[in-house]
Amino acid sequence: MPPVPPQLQRICLHWTAGGLTPNAVDKQHYHFIVAGDGTVVSGKYTPEANGKQLTNRDKYAAHCGGGNSFTIGIAVCGGPKGFKPGTFTQASLESACRKIAECCHYYGIGVTPETVYTHYEFGLRHAGTDSAGKIDINQIPWEPSLSPKAVGDYIRQRVTSYL
Ligand SMILES: [Zn+2]
Repeated sequence: MPPVPPQLQRICLHWTAGGLTPNAVDKQHYHFIVAGDGTVVSGKYTPEANGKQLTNRDKYAAHCGGGNSFTIGIAVCGGPKGFKPGTFTQASLESACRKIAECCHYYGIGVTPETVYTHYEFGLRHAGTDSAGKIDINQIPWEPSLSPKAVGDYIRQRVTSYL
């Protein structure tokens, strides 16, 4: 039988909770990391490494506890407003949304809450996983009126604007 081609069905967006430049740990855990200036850096693993039902013998980007199989992981560098050493930037989020749109186009992934979401949203929907209680991303520093639950829709709307 020929090998099953990689299947990538979903994209999960994170913040790194680190500095504004990707480091080695970030590259280990995400397929793409976006620096504070908007530069997209590739991680150690390609999305294809996650394009199957994963087992603990596989080598892949572990970015979303309970949700790594078939799922691309993208992160903006930094954290929430006031986070030391850095708050994630509008340049990095816009660049991440452009990269997500590119991946949606390339892998044939639609932009819906079930297929393009934040780690925060995944955690809300999967209470029994390590992702429960994750707060990335539950705020947009330059859009302070958005509630945590409105952030995912804001991000999907930005992604859609790049398609
Ligand atoms: Zn995360």
